[in-house]
Amino acid sequence: MLPVVSIVGRPNVGKSTLFNRLIGTRKAIVHDEYGVTRDRHYGESFWNGRDFTVIDTGGYLPDEMNVMVVGIREQVHIALEESDVILFVVDVKDGINTLDKAVANLLRQQDKPVLLVSNKADNEERRMNSTEFYELGIEDLFPVSSINGTGTGNLLDRVVELL
Ligand code: GDP
Ligand code: MG
Repeated sequence: MLPVVSIVGRPNVGKSTLFNRLIGTRKAIVHDEYGVTRDRHYGESFWNGRDFTVIDTGGYLPDEMNVMVVGIREQVHIALEESDVILFVVDVKDGINTLDKAVANLLRQQDKPVLLVSNKADNEERRMNSTEFYELGIEDLFPVSSINGTGTGNLLDRVVELL
């Protein structure tokens, strides 16, 4: 079995965009699962000679706060069980929000390596602003733009170091 890298975070931060960039032209496999965790996407990625599985999480309704909190918590618990590395994605265009803090609290309470991905860092100003996420208490911070690809190489270098 290949090592597993999971992508977690609140809706709209760009998890699926990052997932698509990491798996490139390879095709995602969609798994229907129980409860609010339906709609998980599995793909394969390759970097610096290492093959690994990438899992994109999502599938809960973003319009209801309680459902969303429960959904994210469930996703994070599954990710913690099945992953070797977790990519916790936040959105530097929006800045820190309550849900980011909730996810950070869950992720800080365990031993799996967590990389904090400050997505939508499309330009220098946003790359600078990414330092605000140090407040979440996760030290391995990577500003990336999943849309234009900036920073994803640095992120992947670190991911494969941890596999
Ligand atoms: P998810 O809900 O976390 O899976 O987020 P999506 O991948 O669906 O992206 C949500 C929105 O953010 C979409 O409109 C994306 O085009 C946009 N987005 C994702 N990554 C980036 C990025 O690096 N830069 C910018 N400017 N927008 C992005
Ligand atoms: Mg998504």
